[in-house]
Amino acid sequence: AESYVRAVEGGRALNAFIVETPDHALAAADVADRGRASGELRPLSGVPLGIKDLFATKGVQTTAASKILEGFTPPYESTVTAKLFAAGAGMLGKLNLDQFAMGSSNETSAFGNVISPWRRSGGDTAPLAPGGSSGGSSAAVAARIVAGATGTDTGGSIRQPAAFTGISGIKPTYGRCSRWGIVAFASSLDQAGPMARDVRDCAILLKEMSGFDPKDSTSLDLPVPDYEAALTGNLKGVRVGIPKEYRVDGMPGEIDKLWADGVEWLKGAGAEIVEVSLPHTHHALATYYIVAPAEASSNLARYDGVRYGLRVAPDNGSLDDMYAETRSAGFGAEVKRRIMIGTYVLSAGFYDAYYMKAQKVRALIARDFEQVWDKCDVLLTPTAPSAAFALGEKVSDPIAMYLNDVFTVPASLAGLPAMSVPGGLDAQGLPLGLQIIGRPLDEAGVLNASYALE
Ligand code: GLN
Repeated sequence: AESYVRAVEGGRALNAFIVETPDHALAAADVADRGRASGELRPLSGVPLGIKDLFATKGVQTTAASKILEGFTPPYESTVTAKLFAAGAGMLGKLNLDQFAMGSSNETSAFGNVISPWRRSGGDTAPLAPGGSSGGSSAAVAARIVAGATGTDTGGSIRQPAAFTGISGIKPTYGRCSRWGIVAFASSLDQAGPMARDVRDCAILLKEMSGFDPKDSTSLDLPVPDYEAALTGNLKGVRVGIPKEYRVDGMPGEIDKLWADGVEWLKGAGAEIVEVSLPHTHHALATYYIVAPAEASSNLARYDGVRYGLRVAPDNGSLDDMYAETRSAGFGAEVKRRIMIGTYVLSAGFYDAYYMKAQKVRALIARDFEQVWDKCDVLLTPTAPSAAFALGEKVSDPIAMYLNDVFTVPASLAGLPAMSVPGGLDAQGLPLGLQIIGRPLDEAGVLNASYALE
């Protein structure tokens, strides 16, 4: 009990939790103790996890880090958390995130920044961003406050924060984990996945999180392999593609070096390296920042002051006034920006020019990947174009913030499994991540190649 109380206190120093629930983790630990005595242990018995506050948890406030959901207590449990708890895991708390998972630094949360446990070596002690949107998850895992955490990844929100904090995280194939009970951002892209200290822990957690769910129409009705058994570290016969379009202008030399190191490590594990091309890669970021806001503007229409959380109803006001006042007060600036962009690209006059065009480019990006699987089995790239930046550094420049997602969004648009693992430290002692992207449904291959990098 004391260690759990200390853990949530440690979380406070980083502002990692929105809600603390040490009693939930303790109850799971008690069940685990009894199970150990009677020989009835489950795969995650007593494991204390953090849950990104985008997953609905029955009886525990769920906010998506937005004022508009403050005070909302779901009467139901998300499928992913229900599966984790059924496997014996406990919850230490609901973890902070970018508001509605929109962001790359956790700075859009209505509950304040998360602070990365990392600091630059040398004189510069500026607090650093833990990445986003799963910034509470990355910080809490990196600081050893939780054994593992759930994340969600729409355009990189598991992988980029994992890279910024020196941990591992995998976004599985779209449809592997049920989206039921996860607050929707961009439904055709959103996927849940685990974030943990190493690849093995991710494999163990992913197995428990995955599987068919009739409540999500995009959930895949396929058996879930034993991901842990796939971790051999042997890549003999595996062809690793190096996509030349990921070598972007102005990329720091350290990222180039990290990538070259990754190539050597995979060769050392027996892999064959092949240079490949994904010609539409440079359109991925623009495509993502049309498709994701379009879907978000539609998904967020449900926050009307009637169904959930916040309601601001002016005296003598109309129904429209109530909608407007509730949404003005409840949504943060980045969420409003996305709703405006999304509404604009879906509007009658601009639909063909933006949204339709983006859908076509998305299909081309997906086709690039389909064709590349003739030449290789997995792809190796950097996860992000830089190490963690300081809190506040990019907050006033949305484009600079969006550029962070340049290496993670292509796999999201194509629905492919992709993982980030720590690859080393930059000159200032900050972690850098390497990304493995795999074929549809080949989480096992992605995990094993990542394991070879570890
Ligand atoms: N940073 C990206 C965005 O702001 C990705 C977010 C995510 O994957 N949830 O949209």
